[in-house]
Amino acid sequence: MPDLDQIRNLGIIAHIDAGKTTTTEHILYYAGAKHKLGGVDEGTTETDYDPEEQERGITIYSACITFPWRDSTINLIDTPGHVDFTAEVERSLRVLDGAVVVFDAQKGVEAQSETVWRQANKYSVPRIVFVNKMDVVGANFANVVDEVRERLEGRPVALSIPIGSGSPKDSARPFEATIDLVTMQALYFTGDWGKRIETRPVPEDMRAEVKHWRERLFDVLTERDDKDQITSAYLEGKDIPTETLRAVIRTQTLRGDIHPVLCGSGREHIGVQPLMDAVTYYLPSPLDRPAVEGANPKKKDRKELRKPDPKEPFCGLVFKVVADPHGELFYLRVYSGTLKSQSRPWNPGKDRKEMVTKIYHVFADPSQREELREVYAGDIVALIGLKESTTGDTLCDPNHPILLEPITFAETVVSRSIEPESSADKQKLVDTLTALRREDPTFAWRVDPETGQTVMSGMGMLHLEIKQKRMERDFRLRVRVGKPLVSFRETLRQPIENQGECVRQAGTAGLFAKVTVRLEALTDGQTNAVINELDPEVVPNAFRAAAEQGVRGALQSGEFGYPVINVRATITAAELDQQLSNEVAFEAAAADAVNQGLRNNVVLLEPVMHLEVTVPEEHMGAVTSDLNARRGEISEILTRGKLRVIEALVPLAKTFDYSEKVRSLTQGRADWTMEPHSYAPAPPEVLRGFQGGEEGW
Ligand code: GDP
Repeated sequence: MPDLDQIRNLGIIAHIDAGKTTTTEHILYYAGAKHKLGGVDEGTTETDYDPEEQERGITIYSACITFPWRDSTINLIDTPGHVDFTAEVERSLRVLDGAVVVFDAQKGVEAQSETVWRQANKYSVPRIVFVNKMDVVGANFANVVDEVRERLEGRPVALSIPIGSGSPKDSARPFEATIDLVTMQALYFTGDWGKRIETRPVPEDMRAEVKHWRERLFDVLTERDDKDQITSAYLEGKDIPTETLRAVIRTQTLRGDIHPVLCGSGREHIGVQPLMDAVTYYLPSPLDRPAVEGANPKKKDRKELRKPDPKEPFCGLVFKVVADPHGELFYLRVYSGTLKSQSRPWNPGKDRKEMVTKIYHVFADPSQREELREVYAGDIVALIGLKESTTGDTLCDPNHPILLEPITFAETVVSRSIEPESSADKQKLVDTLTALRREDPTFAWRVDPETGQTVMSGMGMLHLEIKQKRMERDFRLRVRVGKPLVSFRETLRQPIENQGECVRQAGTAGLFAKVTVRLEALTDGQTNAVINELDPEVVPNAFRAAAEQGVRGALQSGEFGYPVINVRATITAAELDQQLSNEVAFEAAAADAVNQGLRNNVVLLEPVMHLEVTVPEEHMGAVTSDLNARRGEISEILTRGKLRVIEALVPLAKTFDYSEKVRSLTQGRADWTMEPHSYAPAPPEVLRGFQGGEEGW
């Protein structure tokens, strides 16, 4: 059994281009998990093994790879660096225990990092900050530390500082090494790709600066040193042993009181090993994390707790399903107990027993795996053999059921019809869409009952484009897609109460039911509620359930065919006939009541996207006036050196050609990301389009 306290379930989080891939590559190389460095710029890196990711240079699909670091075992959970995929980041945060957040030393804290930082706060994930790219023009370590404190409201403590900054071309003192503020040594990285570390004394001319940073470190640490491990000794000017100092830093990092900051440069091979050592010193093992909480699937109001202990009953969370044409790998975080190969855990959400045929640790080269006979609490593995499970499902010991909180995903906002180029590939399209949906719950598909068309939907155009490429490249399926359509929503204008009916006279085969439903708007952000006030003494349960079903169905297809959101529907009364009433009649009558209530009484809502565009200042005018023309609302413009970061809210319907437009406006020098933000009332011309019978616009 592995030493649980030596496991680190780690995520590396970064804004796109901050250097996550480069840093990860170096980690794997130094760990011996790969034998040479693949340059990111050549698209041969290890974690980005999906060809689609390599092409875009971004990481889309989370995977988990296992490798040793000194005496520890690292399970590195990949997290994407693009806003279109915050759902993926959120899901990774659920299963990792600690994270490294990488910042670009020149660009500092970028907007998306703020989002991710807040998500990490929500899941109480202890963090270490890595200030990368210390070798670029304008790199400024102290600035990034300040931004972590000011923009992210973190409590940064520098554990290493740079010797020099920038490159030999632009700096009198280029970045060449780091100073470890814990051991008070200068570290030089030599040999193959910085593999060897030479320690030297702190350079003479940096003594004052080092003293300043070390004092700052102690100032922060002594503030919350409850057990007085260092404070008195420090104040008395005594030497503090490295081990003691590390223990204090660890305690405070685990509590989320501080965020250790280290610096380096992936490209120059500087500072990566100390970062990984810091991961093992300061970030939590699974044992440091609280017991996981879940519901008892049989008695929903009873809470279940599982400690990270191999002797507890088994439970785990499927956090990622990776499909390929040969089968599926189910990535599982084990929270408690032991799972054996060839065993049959229960999936309480699906009420199914699953068969685990194989358990693997997956390595940097995904074709190389280590088969395990069993896996213990705290570890992360890939399973083969599951049939029903999808991302977000719990697996548990059938005799000790627990349902962990499912991972929730935002609803899709854009859809396109899709068909295979060759009609012989119809079944293959269904299989491929099913597989893609399993690995990414923010992607959905259905067959439109009216047109018979297959429609896929997702979180934005880029998201759908990536899926299409993946079908073509990984599943060898060529497809044609239709024009993008906005997923509108509807909501109620006025509260209303109506009686619906289903009355058919056909002798003994007739139908009869009358159901009254009151509709009211809920405040924004709440999910629909259906309340049933029908008296169970009078109306049989099956009819009451059928009425609820009718209400839900009618709300699902609204007045214009879109789901109605933010409503409370109360079934207030019903009339029934002993002979002619049945479930079909109750369902139809309730649906009729809702449909009457919605007639001329809905507001059409359109999805609004949050857009962040980073551009050189000379292009800012062009980008902002284009946003105005798109009904965009600019909320903030930040200055980052010569760059401007524009934040705006734009209706999704006005963004379909954004990719090409922004490229031509800025000669390809803009960097942008977009994600669904909210719904807002659509302007009258959109509604008129619907009433005139046009589909979309
Ligand atoms: P990711 O998007 O966060 O995974 O970033 P990458 O690792 O792909 O790096 C983005 C770009 O920055 C690539 O062109 C890298 O070569 C470059 N890069 C990464 N780290 C450094 C660094 O420390 N210094 C410099 N100068 N460039 C770097």
